Amino acid sequence: MLISVNESFLVNDLIEIGTKQGSLRKKDQLKLSRPPWPQRSGLSADSWLQANPHRLRRTAQIVFLGICLWIGWRFVQFYFSILTPGQAIVSRPPGVEAFLPISALMSARFWFETGIVHPVHPAGLLIFGAILLISFLFRRSFCSWVCPFGFLSEKLADAGRRIFGRNFRLPRWADWPLRALKYLLLGFFVWVIFFCMSLADLRAFLNSPFNQTADVRLLQFFLHPSTITITVLAVLVGLSILVRHLWCRYLCPYGAFTALVGMISPTRIRRNIPSCIECGKCAKACPASLPVNRLLAVHSDECSLCLECVQACPITDTLAVQTIYPRRRVRPLIIALAIAGIFLFTIVFGKLSGHW
Ligand code: SF4
Ligand code: SF4
Repeated sequence: MLISVNESFLVNDLIEIGTKQGSLRKKDQLKLSRPPWPQRSGLSADSWLQANPHRLRRTAQIVFLGICLWIGWRFVQFYFSILTPGQAIVSRPPGVEAFLPISALMSARFWFETGIVHPVHPAGLLIFGAILLISFLFRRSFCSWVCPFGFLSEKLADAGRRIFGRNFRLPRWADWPLRALKYLLLGFFVWVIFFCMSLADLRAFLNSPFNQTADVRLLQFFLHPSTITITVLAVLVGLSILVRHLWCRYLCPYGAFTALVGMISPTRIRRNIPSCIECGKCAKACPASLPVNRLLAVHSDECSLCLECVQACPITDTLAVQTIYPRRRVRPLIIALAIAGIFLFTIVFGKLSGHW
């Protein structure tokens, strides 16, 4: 046991009392509910991380956000270097193609039918493949461990919680149809790319100047936003402060893709019923509002393997990520290392094969 049951009850009771009295802010609640760092708790780093996956996930999110910002900065430098006559051209970071998902989907069909990696934005296709593999292995973990928009969305919701004391949840009658929106958007792109375009159309589009400069157009879109763009972004930011994961839950087609692939993943959150005391803290902590405390295993497409339920559970080894068959526990550190490893392998493979 990492922390005895009695100790954990005491801590949780104190947190609840503090929360009710309004004397504990969320930051303090989190500090209290977490066991101390491994050096001080006497636990091995691995056991500590198993009981405290929040910091590991947060670290992964910050690292990936840093990588995205670096890619963005290099791409801006590249953009201005090609615009300024006489200036040495800064090399273009291939990782920017991660932000061209429609082009990647088209390249995926092109590769599927011809066996050839299309030479325009090849890194986009490889990154798409990496996300597919991550989603198959660890469900929607891309959204909660990697995606900078998922991270931003979480931070906006945290800000909303600080301002309003809570995040708002849409009523069931609105939540269900709105959740379908992201699938409709994804379905539309899949229908157009896979069923409406011939191979010749696809080749023509992939070779077109529009596709070749899609990354530059995307940058220009954000460098010179129209009034409509600013208004839409402001509305999205405002609503994301009120409703947790508004973008990821209702609108993101990439989220729909990772959710669909995640449905056939061999991993899921599993509850050990004999040790569960049915306190409901897991369900309360779940950002996807899943009734974890009433499930044996979480099969929902909305589960992003964020492990907040595991973090919130006061009884050690009651909630964990497990494979279906053979039934094995997957430690949070393994998830983090596997995600990082898949991206590293993708880059190395891309460089060695000339597709990066
Ligand atoms: S699984 Fe959920 S309900 Fe059961 S003890 Fe853990 S937090 Fe409480
Ligand atoms: S069930 Fe657990 S891992 Fe899945 S979204 Fe909810 S809190 Fe995250």
